[in-house]
Amino acid sequence: MKIALDASSVGRYPCDICGKVYRQAGTRNRHKKNHFNVSFKCWMCPSEFSRRYTLQNHIRDIHGMLM
Ligand SMILES: [Zn+2]
Ligand SMILES: [Zn+2]
Repeated sequence: MKIALDASSVGRYPCDICGKVYRQAGTRNRHKKNHFNVSFKCWMCPSEFSRRYTLQNHIRDIHGMLM
């Protein structure tokens, strides 16, 4: 007998940045803060950025590449 995954019982608080789902809003919110603390490193030069789109803009404008 297969146990069907009931999506509604798995978790109701998804992280809208990475999609990970949490059962409690507080845990999810604490997790979400991690996304803003991490830095996005350019792999072509030593630059670091706090936001993914800033890194993407950097790579597009400085290195001439589209992500
Ligand atoms: Zn996340
Ligand atoms: Zn760079």
